[in-house]
Amino acid sequence: MSAIHSNAVIQGFEQKLAATTATLEGIAANYSPAVFASSLAAEDMVLTDLILRHQLNIAIFSLETGRLHAETLAMLDKVKTQYGYEIALFRPEPNAVDTYVASHGLNGFYESVEARKECCRVRKVEPLNRALSGKKAWITGQRRAQSSTRSDLAVQEDDAAHQMQKFNPLADWTEADVWQYIRAKNVPYNALHDKGYPSIGCEPCTRAIQAGEDVRAGRWWWENPESKECGLHVVDGKLIRIKQVAV
Ligand code: SF4
Repeated sequence: MSAIHSNAVIQGFEQKLAATTATLEGIAANYSPAVFASSLAAEDMVLTDLILRHQLNIAIFSLETGRLHAETLAMLDKVKTQYGYEIALFRPEPNAVDTYVASHGLNGFYESVEARKECCRVRKVEPLNRALSGKKAWITGQRRAQSSTRSDLAVQEDDAAHQMQKFNPLADWTEADVWQYIRAKNVPYNALHDKGYPSIGCEPCTRAIQAGEDVRAGRWWWENPESKECGLHVVDGKLIRIKQVAV
């Protein structure tokens, strides 16, 4: 697959916005069927707005793990009300959840890294793989500025694990850029962002952070940072650490 984005660093909000829009248009034109994996957090609402505003042929889905906050689930209705668009939901296999709960307990993910990874595999990774099946490209809301370890995040990547292209159209964007867009375009956003949650995942695995904490400190906070792997993003055949993940 040829690259549709140079991955050059772009300065200035308007230039970033133009480049991001062009990247999304290129994905829709050249990588159909393409899908956008939305976590319903702020970055992903920017991409949702751009995709729907420009009526791009990119389907939007979310992973409904069964453990999301009410505020996150409320975003589905907010999107439907504002855009008339129904985000597709991919849920875990009920039998797999039953097996997990029988073996580990409903909240067994607190007991060990292995139990946590198995929960993520059942509730996130398997549904994601189903959502990506048969697609040519997928899109995420990851940004370089989310972590120093993401400083080399490319806008376009070869996702060997899923055998497709993966795009991070907001790679250049700062947090301020995200909120500038949200305010300017009156984009609906998750109420948790106003309650100290810059990063939002499943309810039992996400907490609000204090001033000065890393923006992702509230994700799987009880684990050693070295073990924090989500399983949704794979780089060069390796799972990348949670501080690098935007889901
Ligand atoms: S984030 Fe927590 S509840 Fe959600 S799938 Fe992973 S371990 Fe399970």
